[in-house]
Amino acid sequence: MKIICIGRNYSDHAKEMNSPIPEEPLFFLKPDTALFRDKNFYYPEFTSDLHHEIELVVKIAKVGKHISVDNAPKYYNEIGLGIDFTARDIQKQCKAKGLPWEKAKAFDNSAVISQQFIKKEDLDLSNISFSLEKNNTTVQSGNSVDMLFHINQLISHVSKYITLKTGDLIYTGTPQGVGPVEIGDQLTGYLDEKAMFTVNIK
Ligand code: MG
Repeated sequence: MKIICIGRNYSDHAKEMNSPIPEEPLFFLKPDTALFRDKNFYYPEFTSDLHHEIELVVKIAKVGKHISVDNAPKYYNEIGLGIDFTARDIQKQCKAKGLPWEKAKAFDNSAVISQQFIKKEDLDLSNISFSLEKNNTTVQSGNSVDMLFHINQLISHVSKYITLKTGDLIYTGTPQGVGPVEIGDQLTGYLDEKAMFTVNIK
């Protein structure tokens, strides 16, 4: 399986990063070794500015390529929640040099994923609220209504370039409020008020 991550899909986050609003979805990949479903996350030694990015995650249910926006709902049934962990210091260096972001984004355990996924029939896809608490204080909150490109557009766009396969995950972008995590922090992700995962930074 593969992990596809969408960048700058919320205008308020693009602003906080001083990045332009994209004219089409921006995406990058993480390998399957990035997936993290455990409790204790060990702070990587190569960064001193690890950031959380809470994101809704779409699980692909069927193989497809060149999927139209109208047909996209047939290709997913479930939504989960994850964190796109980012070594912000390394990402800044890569951006400044015009280099790829993999070192900053695709490292082991950088894709926190909830054990549970919610059936899309049980959600109002245009109004999914989600948030991240750090040490019991809400640090990020978002709603799918604010996505610049909604799920069907993302699936259609990515599938022009890359065949989507059953089990692939699409991280749909983070709202504003990204920030650093420190050793000792506890992160809990919520989807429509339901706690989906808790991660302890060790
Ligand atoms: Mg992200």
